[in-house]
Amino acid sequence: MVAARSALHEGARPTGVFTRAEIHGDTVLDCDVAIVGSGAGGATMAAELAEAGFDVVVLEEGSYYQTRDFTADSSAMVRQLYREGGATMALGNPPIMFQEGRAVGGSTVINGGMSWRTPASILDGWRTRDGLDISPAQMEPYFERVERRIHVAPMDESAIGIDNQLLKKGADAKGWKIVGNLRNQVHCAGSNRCAFGCPTGAKQSALVSYIPRALHFGARVYADVAVDRITRHGKRATGVMGHVRRADGSRGFHVAVRSKLVVAACGAIHTPALLARSGIRSRSGELGGNLSLHPNVKVVAIFDERLPPSILAMSFPHRGKKLGELMQHYDRMVLAGLLCEDTTTGRVRTINGRPQAFYQLSPRDAANMLRGLSLLSELLFAAGARRILLPFHHAPELQTPDDARRLLDHPVKPSQWEVVTVHMMGTAKMGGDRAASVTDDTGFVHDVDRLLVADASLFPTPVRVNPMETIMALSTRAAGRVIENRRRYLT
Ligand SMILES: Cc1cc2nc3c(=O)[nH]c(=O)nc-3n(C[C@H](O)[C@H](O)[C@H](O)COP(=O)(O)OP(=O)(O)OC[C@H]3O[C@@H](n4cnc5c(N)ncnc54)[C@H](O)[C@@H]3O)c2cc1C
Ligand code: SF4
Repeated sequence: MVAARSALHEGARPTGVFTRAEIHGDTVLDCDVAIVGSGAGGATMAAELAEAGFDVVVLEEGSYYQTRDFTADSSAMVRQLYREGGATMALGNPPIMFQEGRAVGGSTVINGGMSWRTPASILDGWRTRDGLDISPAQMEPYFERVERRIHVAPMDESAIGIDNQLLKKGADAKGWKIVGNLRNQVHCAGSNRCAFGCPTGAKQSALVSYIPRALHFGARVYADVAVDRITRHGKRATGVMGHVRRADGSRGFHVAVRSKLVVAACGAIHTPALLARSGIRSRSGELGGNLSLHPNVKVVAIFDERLPPSILAMSFPHRGKKLGELMQHYDRMVLAGLLCEDTTTGRVRTINGRPQAFYQLSPRDAANMLRGLSLLSELLFAAGARRILLPFHHAPELQTPDDARRLLDHPVKPSQWEVVTVHMMGTAKMGGDRAASVTDDTGFVHDVDRLLVADASLFPTPVRVNPMETIMALSTRAAGRVIENRRRYLT
């Protein structure tokens, strides 16, 4: 093995970012804190701890891309920025496609930038039912801090696209209340490319907010390094072992990190797998369990108005001739969706070291979504839609508001739905009771010293809103507690 510093040289990237091109042999790194994963949770933790003077190393399996790399070639962007090119699936009937980012910045690089605080009623439930020392008032300073760092603000009027204007028209016609969108953006151009990496840098993903801040305060970020396991001495986590991920996905040089604190921030699918690969069990049986997904369904509405072209073909259950016929109307289509606060949970199992999610949509949640779809379709007709295509196999399209209302007359079995998700949560849940949770109130894994989880895995329940801000706020809160007890973690 060679010392890391001598094995590396600086390229065109910012100081502190290293990629496979700079790792020329098996490598050992020493630091105070090793953070695995650079998404919403990991990047926030890195910036907070580096700013407080901790020597931080971030290990990220995905590559390092910058704003200038985000091009109009959507399929290339999906291959580069999405794990498995976006084709990951939770097994059940129906199977549920889910998507995760794999790049420096994690899923924040490809997300929509919607930034919402955890609803007060969710935090209250986490206190009363899950035994957390948490409340809206306690979380307020963390939300405020995150919102300053990632520039959360209402959307600029000028960046609101015609599709959203149509939704507003429909809601106004129905007399429904509209809540404006809050997003982490600065001068968003409304180009609607968020899912492929923001080409203007307007979206304040972790890549352009927390990661540069962490680097500024001396953190080192190793891209293209996948962590295989957490090392331990007795009960104490002592670092991580991983490998360089070559461009073709094969294993390259070994990378070992020796640290005083380990943070697992791989997201709700990969954090339980990393812990399981490292031989960590939870006596609660909840490691990998408690998986919530906010099941998400979409309809396509066809209008008379012409709209800016968008990428819709992937959203249809139809194929072949029928898809061809529909795509003739692509410039008159609006894709609208809803997500459901799920009442059931699934599980991530680690099979041969790799995570596999299992999740069965419940009849209760399917019924809830049907009601949501009926209301959404009514709104779209009120906005002027002519036809609405539904996310069920072999479903006739809707042509009138009465069709929308009649949707509720016939329950749709869970197996018939086309469901997707981008909100995976809950697989290493925190809690006050060791027998029922994987981590304590901060995110420290029970029965392991110096191992902290800082990502969406921690949620005891789904959060009902888009999860990024909750993850960042909880990570800020946990970092604060580490900083307060720095003497304990620096020895
Ligand atoms: C398309 C899309 C749109 C979304 N839109 C929104 C939105 O508008 N608003 C919102 O609030 N949320 C949104 N989300 C969800 C939000 O982005 C995620 O909930 C959030 O980023 C999850 O944070 P995390 O830290 O748990 O994991 P991630 O941000 O996913 O980061 C995990 C990182 O860990 C890395 N990693 C995993 N395993 C390893 C390993 N073994 N070694 C090294 N690195 C590893 C991964 O490559 C990844 O980069 C969206 C998500 C997607 C995919
Ligand atoms: S400029 Fe485009 S890609 Fe960037 S945040 Fe705005 S809509 Fe998304």
